[in-house]
Amino acid sequence: MGNTFKMTQNKILSGKVALVTGASRGIGKSIALSLGALGAEVVVNYSASDTSAEEVAKSINKSGGSSYKLKFDVSDEESVNNGINQIIKNSGKIDILINNAGITRDGLLMRMKESQWDEVLNTNLKGVFLCTKNVSRFMLKQRSGKIINITSIVGLIGNPGQANYAASKAGVIGFTKTCAKEFASRGIKVNAIAPGFIETEMTENLKTDDLLKMIPLGKLGSADQIASLVNFLVSSDASEYITGQTISIDGGMNM
Ligand code: NAP
Repeated sequence: MGNTFKMTQNKILSGKVALVTGASRGIGKSIALSLGALGAEVVVNYSASDTSAEEVAKSINKSGGSSYKLKFDVSDEESVNNGINQIIKNSGKIDILINNAGITRDGLLMRMKESQWDEVLNTNLKGVFLCTKNVSRFMLKQRSGKIINITSIVGLIGNPGQANYAASKAGVIGFTKTCAKEFASRGIKVNAIAPGFIETEMTENLKTDDLLKMIPLGKLGSADQIASLVNFLVSSDASEYITGQTISIDGGMNM
């Protein structure tokens, strides 16, 4: 995995504050690094991986950007409230929210435990609700903001063994559309990105031979490709008229 974003002269997000949940590794890490390279002050959220989160923030600071790590559990209301209040105290505002934190607890439905269902729904769907509700209070007041929810191809087409994950990610899509409608008059854009299979720790145990046959472009995607789409949605003038959408980036799996 590349994480190829370098500090550029084009600091288009200079003066903006971005919160990326689950940014200690994988897709969230790439998004954090790329937003940092575009000049945003980046809050690197995580729930357990302290050292990795520290490294992401350090790497942004070393390349001339501005970043700090912040531990909070997106599935816990008190933890989210405290985390967001801390950001407002440190940084004064939040302009960009990337709801990326997510987990899997796979198993065929007949064998799926209630705890597997609850853990996934609480992190992947309730987490998006708690972070969005909390951050939007500030965005509504400032009458601007960009929210991107990372859903999944699995939320669009389903996947055996992932009933909990598919339900959580399909829920995120409905949530995204509703927020886009509720917030549009205040200048806040809310979109979802639906990645296919991306090379991260989450997918490292998947049988790639079987998987590759399902992907028209014949290969897994990279976290940096997801980060580039995020960049387009948060920083390009060309994306200003886009809200309430779920954009697939999956090598052609969903068509
Ligand atoms: P990953 O490598 O497993 O990373 C997950 C991140 O989420 C980690 O930083 C983890 O930090 C954080 N996290 C987990 N639970 C959390 C919680 N309760 N509170 C705060 N942070 C938490 O996953 P990934 O592959 O990068 O996936 C990122 C997002 O993309 C997820 O929403 C996933 O569902 C989605 N997605 C991934 C793929 C794929 O192929 N990889 C495809 C479609 C969609 P800690 O270790 O500190 O908990």
